[in-house]
Amino acid sequence: MRVLLVEDDAMIGEAVQLGLRKQALAVDWVQDGLAAKAALGAGTFDLVLLDLGLPKLDGLQVLRWLRGTGSKVPVLILTARDSVNDRIKGLDAGADDYIVKPFDLNELAARVRAVLRRQAGRAENLVEHLGITLDPARHAVTCHGEAVNLSHREFALLEALLERPGQVLSRTQLEERLYGWGEEVESNAVEVHIHNLRKKLGAEYIQNVRGVGYRVRAT
Ligand code: CA
Repeated sequence: MRVLLVEDDAMIGEAVQLGLRKQALAVDWVQDGLAAKAALGAGTFDLVLLDLGLPKLDGLQVLRWLRGTGSKVPVLILTARDSVNDRIKGLDAGADDYIVKPFDLNELAARVRAVLRRQAGRAENLVEHLGITLDPARHAVTCHGEAVNLSHREFALLEALLERPGQVLSRTQLEERLYGWGEEVESNAVEVHIHNLRKKLGAEYIQNVRGVGYRVRAT
């Protein structure tokens, strides 16, 4: 999952970025409204965390512009303004949820998971396929009931592949899911993580489609 974080407060931004990366989310962080517009115009995100008080263009303007483009990407507002009015304005402008600062990082992570889950049309948090169960909240994976220990990146990779079993994701698409901007990607990182996943889960689940990418077997 790829998240755009729009936050001009450096301390909050760093904490949120770090916290969400631990949740195996790729986080891109921008610090003003214009940069947010540029990022949203250029990339694909699964979720936007949007501060309202921002330099250059405020969060509400960014949100109205975004919805004006027809984008349905979930938006969670982060705001220090705890007035009811601002929350209502945000929700009316197309935000999916809001969280009032100061917030607890665990609560933010739970809200993020809830929004992503609603987006995927899943009431349950668990992803299940061919005996593999992935639990984003606990960051846990089991294979036929046996716990499997995965790194953050391996977990994120498996989660991406399990979203649409049978569908091939290219190496570039997988790298985008694993790494935020400015994070160095080793040239064979995806191959290494796939290799490790196969070792841990068994080789039969993840298929390499030569020259195209990887997929999880549909059946
Ligand atoms: Ca701010």
